[in-house]
Amino acid sequence: MTPATHSVEVRLARRGYQIEIGTGLLDRLGSVVSQLRPTTHAAIVTDEHVHSPHAERAARSLHGAHIKVDVLVVPAGESSKCVQVAAQLWNKLLALGVDRQTLIVAVGGGVVGDLAGFVAATFARGLDFFQVPTTLLAQVDSAVGGKVGINLPAAKNMVGAFWQPLGVLADTATLATLGDREYRAGLAEVVKYGVILDAEFFAWLEQHTAELVARDPQALIHVVTRSCQLKAEVVAADEFETSGRRAVLNYGHTVAHALEATAGYGALLHGEAVSIGMMAAARLAARLGRWGADDVERQRQLLVALGLPVELSGPADADRLLAAMAHDKKVEHGRIRWVLPTRIGQVELVGGIAPPDVRAVLLSG
Ligand code: NAD
Repeated sequence: MTPATHSVEVRLARRGYQIEIGTGLLDRLGSVVSQLRPTTHAAIVTDEHVHSPHAERAARSLHGAHIKVDVLVVPAGESSKCVQVAAQLWNKLLALGVDRQTLIVAVGGGVVGDLAGFVAATFARGLDFFQVPTTLLAQVDSAVGGKVGINLPAAKNMVGAFWQPLGVLADTATLATLGDREYRAGLAEVVKYGVILDAEFFAWLEQHTAELVARDPQALIHVVTRSCQLKAEVVAADEFETSGRRAVLNYGHTVAHALEATAGYGALLHGEAVSIGMMAAARLAARLGRWGADDVERQRQLLVALGLPVELSGPADADRLLAAMAHDKKVEHGRIRWVLPTRIGQVELVGGIAPPDVRAVLLSG
């Protein structure tokens, strides 16, 4: 039986693309890719946790569509999003004789998607690429929108490009093998969409925490589809993050990126850092009288119900966090623009916040 598919279109000025969402879609990868463009060679980039069974299944499906496949496996985890691993991939592609006709296929979480997309954007001045996200975070966020890149030791996602995929295939069945911590981390980005853009979706999440924690298949399809729709609307309105519209997606990320950089990449999962960062931003908004304490508490309760951290478990160094924030890409002329809620479903960008206010909310629980 053919699995039911939900399609979300990302409408861009130059070229739009489809996100296909469903349970058990991976076996259709070969036919989806072949319909997009004639393809004879694909290089799958994956990591050691995803290789078996998901990347192998993706490779089988591509083979079935008469596509020659090479599989490049990188170590799992955030530390692979670095220039050394990117250089290894560039050299492997060269050794494989990859040319402009080769399709790069990212099969994995956000790390693999960002890294493979960056390698695709840069090798031979740009190869087509396709995203097969296998974590919840990647399905609801990182695989959509075309931001690709790697980290510098002191600054996350600092080197990268806007490089849109040809398409995205999100098979929610792949989430069954995902560790509990990684799965819950993805829910942080889902909560983010509710807070920044959609009060109704936020309320739906509040009412379905048990199904979400249990990875109920229908609940998963709903959150992936709604999250992709919301992200696609924002990306379509501001593909290159020039108007400020796309910046709303960075809610919680100013603190999250600083936490990730100071804790050492990989110590905190990105979604966990985003959860803690959203609480810091919420407290900041409340401290400045922009957001009501009741809504801050609603956000906290939802994050807790989904098993997400809302404060740091160990001591943190506020000075190091503030210094790391100063490196953030959202800093303009030395001033951080914060994404702060005004009510559930709406945020605004706020600059010029005094460091003592930031310091006060960073470390309080
Ligand atoms: P990840 O890619 O490291 O995956 C988390 C872990 O799950 C890894 O160990 C991975 O091997 C494993 N894994 C992946 N899929 C699996 C599966 N189906 N079964 C079992 N294990 C599986 O991390 P992530 O949370 O997916 O992504 C985080 C990254 O995404 C960060 O680098 C972040 O900066 C980036 N990101 C990018 C964007 C963007 O717009 N490009 C947006 C948000 C986040």
